[in-house]
Amino acid sequence: MNGKKYIIGNWKSNKILSDVRSWFTKFNSLYKSDNKISLDNLEIVICPPFIYLPEADNLIKKFNLPISLGVQDISPFPQGAYTGEVGASQIADFAKFVLVGHSERRSNFGETDKLLFAKVDQADKNGLQVVYCVADNQTLIPQSVTMVAYEPVWAIGTGKTESGENAGKVADSIRGNLKTLKIIYGGSVNSKNITDFLTGNRLDGVLPGGASLDAGSFWEMIVNASRI
Ligand code: PEP
Repeated sequence: MNGKKYIIGNWKSNKILSDVRSWFTKFNSLYKSDNKISLDNLEIVICPPFIYLPEADNLIKKFNLPISLGVQDISPFPQGAYTGEVGASQIADFAKFVLVGHSERRSNFGETDKLLFAKVDQADKNGLQVVYCVADNQTLIPQSVTMVAYEPVWAIGTGKTESGENAGKVADSIRGNLKTLKIIYGGSVNSKNITDFLTGNRLDGVLPGGASLDAGSFWEMIVNASRI
């Protein structure tokens, strides 16, 4: 747990193309104007809607930003006759990370363990790093998973958070004997509370949704995390 800390921004189904361009332009100017910050201890990831992956990829390259891309979902099938789906091999052209089992997908789209395990299988076959989202320490986790996001449902988008201490305890119980399992926390993380989650080395990062939508607040989280 002394490795890099992950800050994984989940944009959900937000933003239109012009917003995406403004976000990266603003992030770039904040990043370039702060020449003292060291990001060596951080892995910064943004998960935009699928449709903006190519544009986000172009902007990251154009501005030479220390950001990797992730996606919010993945098809449980390989590429082929699966209308409306985006397959792992297509995602792998742009992204390194994939969220699987976010509570909004479990509740709004009825995603079951069986379906989620098939998604993980597709991600594994195509070299994508899965971030497997669970609501508690009772949720089934596929064996191949190396990174889990602990996201209590009551804390998502509500402004209410776990304490860093409690999140750390739940992380320890999810981890059990699997000492190398990375666990990040999600649920109303922002620039004010991020330090609480990242100090103490029980958590490997955070998964902010709302606070990642503005490049300024996302940058503030990065600055605060870089000081830990
Ligand atoms: C999320 O998107 O997984 C999330 C935790 O959102 P928020 O930070 O807005 O609660």
